Amino acid sequence: MSYLRAVLNNNTALEIKHLENIIKYGKKLGHNTSKYEKELAKIEKRENTTSSKTATKNKVQKTQTAKKVTKTKPKPKTNSLNYTVKNVYTKNNMIVIDFYTNITKKHIDYSIDKTKYSNLYLFDIKGSFKDARPTKLEISGIDRIYIIQKQKSLLHIKVRDKNKLNPIYIVNKKQIIIKFLNIGSNVNSNTTKTNTNRNIINVNRYKRKVVVIDAGHGGKDVGAVGSNKKYEKKVVLAVGKYLYNILKKRGYDVYITRKGDTFIEVRNRTILANKKNADIFLSIHANSIAKSKAHKVKGVETFFLSPARSARAKRVAAKENSSDVRSMSLATKNSFLTVLNQSKITASNKLAIDVQQNMLYTLQQKYKDTVDGGVREGPFWVLVGAQMPSILIEVGYISHPTEGKRLYKSSYQKLLANGIANGIDSYFLKNP
Ligand SMILES: [Zn+2]
Repeated sequence: MSYLRAVLNNNTALEIKHLENIIKYGKKLGHNTSKYEKELAKIEKRENTTSSKTATKNKVQKTQTAKKVTKTKPKPKTNSLNYTVKNVYTKNNMIVIDFYTNITKKHIDYSIDKTKYSNLYLFDIKGSFKDARPTKLEISGIDRIYIIQKQKSLLHIKVRDKNKLNPIYIVNKKQIIIKFLNIGSNVNSNTTKTNTNRNIINVNRYKRKVVVIDAGHGGKDVGAVGSNKKYEKKVVLAVGKYLYNILKKRGYDVYITRKGDTFIEVRNRTILANKKNADIFLSIHANSIAKSKAHKVKGVETFFLSPARSARAKRVAAKENSSDVRSMSLATKNSFLTVLNQSKITASNKLAIDVQQNMLYTLQQKYKDTVDGGVREGPFWVLVGAQMPSILIEVGYISHPTEGKRLYKSSYQKLLANGIANGIDSYFLKNP
């Protein structure tokens, strides 16, 4: 936390000191520290520029934050009262529709109209948008996007393209996100002549994100056990494999630690993620509790790595850590916890929030009784070695009479995987 605090407080001397420590200990542990070395070089360079420059820079930053603060405050109600849609815009080749209030899947209806020469994707959105006509949307690689206020409370978003775009949409709280699964390949083939310079820059920035999925336990390590010998290792492998396929279809580079019933040591699980230079690492697990409480405790929860040890995190961590506690010395664990992973905590926390929210939302569409276990922090050794934002997902309680049964159903496993995938989309949308 001290490194983060130094950054947040703009304490350069402290920031440099902590970075030097991270590099020193990281090297001792055989980690790749080039990222931190670059960061250090950047700060040192920044320090060498004249103090007047820094002063103006600080001034600019200050006014920007001031602006941001006023932005988040609700605008005068005269505008928002009559309109339910706040804004429609594009971000990372996706269309984003922001509402003033929370919405549900009922707010969007999707249809497709195919002709020989083009595909028309039509999104009927329950809402009214003040700037429907004047707002123009462009995504490089897509022929045309129209926004039309069809009726007083029906907004049309039409997307026309000669290629198949395979759109999907995510509804979460006050937002609808429309993503085009096939845009990557179209973008590449269209960039040569037709697009402007600006678009080409955008295209170059478009990089496939790398996701590594870890299906927990496996082989001799069965994980948690529910009634009738329901094994955690089986449930999490199924969810992991569904997630693998969904993310592939959505254009991610995806890897999974195991595709069968094999035993993998905890520390080896993150090696794959580090080797593939993954953008995020997700470890999938299922929870359980003593028989006496089995019918009371259920729900989904998401953890991110931190030294924090709440009673609940301790209980879950003790269970998940038990399969491979001896593979790392306590000193190694502690040095990782206090040094290397600190800068990843914030990003991991954000990822955990997006995954938890979307997983819960998706499940509750069909299973209203799904319990929100929330986002929590804890010391999970499986996440310790990861050099990227990483989370541990508990997809439910295998010990619960109904939830345990659901976890064994493939339709439920697919629902879970879709929810997690939506969370990942949502995270990368906000953190490109
Ligand atoms: Zn587990």
